Amino acid sequence: MSDCIFCKIIEGSIPSVNVYRDEQVTAFRDVNPAAPTHILIVPNKHIDSVNTLTNADEQLIGRLFMAAQQLAAQEGVAENGYRLIVNTGADAGQTVFHVHLHLLGGKPIKHLIG
Ligand code: AMP
Repeated sequence: MSDCIFCKIIEGSIPSVNVYRDEQVTAFRDVNPAAPTHILIVPNKHIDSVNTLTNADEQLIGRLFMAAQQLAAQEGVAENGYRLIVNTGADAGQTVFHVHLHLLGGKPIKHLIG
């Protein structure tokens, strides 16, 4: 999608601090981190939100979670714990309409984010 900021990050036309990349998934550090570790894990394919997932995306969504597991270990937060968040739509505070997992860790997270 030409006006999607995450698509631009995936294609490399705007800067990001990438921490993971494969043929289906990209992960990069959130520009406005809410915790010491705050990574966004996104499909390389543009999907607006959970609302527009289809059955064909089932495996892809699983890949996002497997990347999260790997990144949590890499970041050293797996043992102490971390939170995965998927905001969907305006009431949840979704601001970027390219589906993504937030991976937050590195401190106790006792309250809702956003
Ligand atoms: P959400 O509110 O769930 O849609 O989350 C969007 C997230 O994208 C926010 O946490 C923003 O800080 C983050 N964000 C927006 N633009 C960028 C960018 N250029 N690079 C990294 N993170 C970004």
